[in-house]
Amino acid sequence: MAADTRRSAAAPRYVYLFSELEEVQAGLGDDWDAVRALLGGKGANLADMVRLGAPVPPGFTVTTEACKAFLAAGEVFPPGLWEQVLTCLEAIEKSTGKRFGDPRAPLLLSCRSGAKFSMPGMMDTVLNLGLSDEVAAGMVASNADPRLVYDLYRRLIQMFGSVVLEIPDESFEKVIRELRESAGVASDAELGAEAWRQAVDRFKTIVHHFTGDEFPQSPREQLRLATAAVFASWNTRRAVDYRNAANIPHDLGTAVNIQAMVFGNADDDSATGVAMSRNPSTGEPGIEGDFLCNAQGEDVVAGMRQTRSLDELQQLMPEQYAQLVEIAKRLETHYRNMQDMEFTIERGRLWLLQTRDGKRTAQAEVRIAVDMAEEGLLTRQEAVCRVSPDRVDFFLHPQLDPRALEGRKPLGRGLNVSPGAAVGTIALDADTAERWAKDGRDVIMVRPETKPDDVHGMLAARGVVTERGGRTSHAALVARQFGKPAVVGVEALHVDLDQREITVGDLVLKEGDWISIDGTGGVVYEGRLETVVPDLENPQLRTLLSWADEFRRLGVRANADHPRDADRARRLGAEGIGLCRTEHMFFEPGRLEIVQRMILSKSRTERSEAIAELLPFQRSDFVGLFRSMSGLPVIIRLLDPPLHEFLPAYDELIQDLADLKVRLQHMHTMSEIDEALDQIRTKQDFLERVKALREANPMLGTRGVRLGILIPDLTRMQVRAILEAACECRREGVEVEPEIMIPLTSHVAELRDQQRTLESEARQVFEEQRMEIPCRFGTMIEIPRAALTADQLAECAEFFSFGTNDLTQTTFGISRDDAEAGFLMQYIKRGILPSNPFATIDRDGVGKLIEIAIGLGRSRRPDLVVGICGEHGGDPASIALCHELGLDYVSCSPYRVPIARLAAAHAALALHPGQ
Ligand code: ADP
Ligand code: MG
Ligand code: MG
Repeated sequence: MAADTRRSAAAPRYVYLFSELEEVQAGLGDDWDAVRALLGGKGANLADMVRLGAPVPPGFTVTTEACKAFLAAGEVFPPGLWEQVLTCLEAIEKSTGKRFGDPRAPLLLSCRSGAKFSMPGMMDTVLNLGLSDEVAAGMVASNADPRLVYDLYRRLIQMFGSVVLEIPDESFEKVIRELRESAGVASDAELGAEAWRQAVDRFKTIVHHFTGDEFPQSPREQLRLATAAVFASWNTRRAVDYRNAANIPHDLGTAVNIQAMVFGNADDDSATGVAMSRNPSTGEPGIEGDFLCNAQGEDVVAGMRQTRSLDELQQLMPEQYAQLVEIAKRLETHYRNMQDMEFTIERGRLWLLQTRDGKRTAQAEVRIAVDMAEEGLLTRQEAVCRVSPDRVDFFLHPQLDPRALEGRKPLGRGLNVSPGAAVGTIALDADTAERWAKDGRDVIMVRPETKPDDVHGMLAARGVVTERGGRTSHAALVARQFGKPAVVGVEALHVDLDQREITVGDLVLKEGDWISIDGTGGVVYEGRLETVVPDLENPQLRTLLSWADEFRRLGVRANADHPRDADRARRLGAEGIGLCRTEHMFFEPGRLEIVQRMILSKSRTERSEAIAELLPFQRSDFVGLFRSMSGLPVIIRLLDPPLHEFLPAYDELIQDLADLKVRLQHMHTMSEIDEALDQIRTKQDFLERVKALREANPMLGTRGVRLGILIPDLTRMQVRAILEAACECRREGVEVEPEIMIPLTSHVAELRDQQRTLESEARQVFEEQRMEIPCRFGTMIEIPRAALTADQLAECAEFFSFGTNDLTQTTFGISRDDAEAGFLMQYIKRGILPSNPFATIDRDGVGKLIEIAIGLGRSRRPDLVVGICGEHGGDPASIALCHELGLDYVSCSPYRVPIARLAAAHAALALHPGQ
């Protein structure tokens, strides 16, 4: 084509026609991701749709490279770019038979942003470029509908005015409102040619007023300025906010798509809309969306007019609807993903203007992945990989408590565009929402409609409500993507921004009042309602997780201290308990007092008595755990924390004692005084003991295995409780697999000591009980020395469990509690550490220690069982590392078990995709 002849020899190629996709793709080694990076997602897919034979108005794409060059040069076009644009423009003129700026047969163009990753509505687009006074007059003279012509022209001035000239859109909207009022009509669609002609005049005055210049009458000038403005919109605040929230790099730049206009506002046989190939909230099959008759572009997404559901299009224009369904199917099959499409019908003819992978809720994501695998569009492996493990978290989102809803009348109903419940105080604009949220308040942002500028408020809010807007409105899209519960199009509700209040009938709610929303059902309630967390009963999720189970190699266990947690973990798919922290049992009411007596005891007998009193409690706890984990291994860790944690804090005791002594001075009766003296004595005892137990670094002090060595009776009691419970359960027919774990080991001699104690106690219990139960003995690895001498430890230990919280503290030599409130956050902010090592395992340091420990341990004991029980066990990136390093299982909190199952499958499939 002609492009080659005009292009200057030196300038790189910056512009490609939609029809030149093959060439672009071949130039990039057939790498579709690179094509998207160069042409942007919108441009790449427009060209791709042309190739697939979908009806797309002709056009071309100015690459992201051009944008980067433009921004790098301080917002000037790189040499050669404009000439290339004009060359491609000629090609469009040829294929449409119209000419840009020609009053007889004018070509009108849109100039559209489009980055590699979709950022809906965040950047700018200008429609109807190419209109001027002369062109408009020419169109009317050659019998075009004057209403259409002036509507298009005023839209051009309005969009060009706000996007390119940065005039507040409200100035234009105000004029339209006045025109509607004086014509006595409710909607723009009812305004006639004369009204729009007046709008054009008044808009031109506004432009002159704000800029001191006339609205540019040269179509080429319009195109040049619009292209520059679209490039520049890459760096607007809202675009930057969005990229930060969506983790999109800031150096990609946007492409610009320049495309022949088609007119959804041509007449009543014209329409424009957005269609999803499946329901984006629930994932149900069948196209879903909104449209408007006799409207253009932004009208649908902006939420200014109440849109109609696509079901109505089926009635109104059955042929076009059928064609849309057929194209949706074709695009889904091609992209193997749910599509979000923009379409326009001009005088009965359907055009596609955009397609992209649709944003969807977690529920829809899971359902679509499973359905597509069942339809044969995806393999099961692909379906599993489609759903990011973190998304499973959304199934645990709170819902409004059904009991709180009984007999309560909703404030209003709207569309349930993003599920989950949210409770908060009404904030009527994004800045307020953000400010209040920063102050720690829960807010629900309530708006007439949301605009791209509102994103920071939506991110800060717990939930979003809008008065207008449809399923594909901007608010809905963003809420879904970020998992914010949202109800849009609540028509009963009226937002009054001047009075800072919302009204529903006679009811008035002020900004700051509480409301509750149910994004799953699309309902808004007055007041602050209770919420509950549901269980993961979703059938598609169950299917997906069962597939994940087939592909993963890592086992998944849970950290659970109570039978109720163990039950829940098992329901969520845990294959045993990886960590039961016995100290949690010590804190329960009725027990703490015994534990304190044990700590305060002055003689060994006194202490033994207290310990013996604890035995029945511990035993019954373990019975509960074994029952709920019948047939699965249960790792119980012996007492770990420093003893002072069971006593009141030092400062608190000093304070209490002072208070008591002051009160003593004012007491009158003997019994009062006696009682106070008693209390003083107890507190004094506590204080003595607390003083004696005080350590400068308690986390590195008398805790873990060190306690068991100093107080062997404690180890004996715990071992006895575990094994007696095991025997009791076995008698009931429960299959028990107890495993006893020693915390904080650093030297093999410590393990040998505890093993001796354990074995002698076990022998005794088994004799008394007249049965024997296999019980594994193992250790936590949470100190570098343990990792480095793991071969020695493996002589005693039959299993290892990496306690990566402590292992991270001891490897870095930092105290987590102090660091996370202090320098660590600075480190992360300044990029000194890439991420928080307490959230994701530090691969190079802690990861290396794990690797060494596994290697050494297995060299001595090939069947050594190795797991992890730190909080990292529920973190997908850490789980991937555990898979790589050959651990046998991860153990995490019950609610993270499903996330871990999916993450473990992702890890396996990433390393062995062919599985
Ligand atoms: P966004 O990324 O904000 O969706 P788009 O570039 O997709 O911006 O365009 C905004 C609106 O204008 C969309 O509704 C789109 O369908 C419409 N539009 C864009 N180009 C054309 C065109 N050539 N003809 C008709 N409508 C168009
Ligand atoms: Mg779009
Ligand atoms: Mg620990």
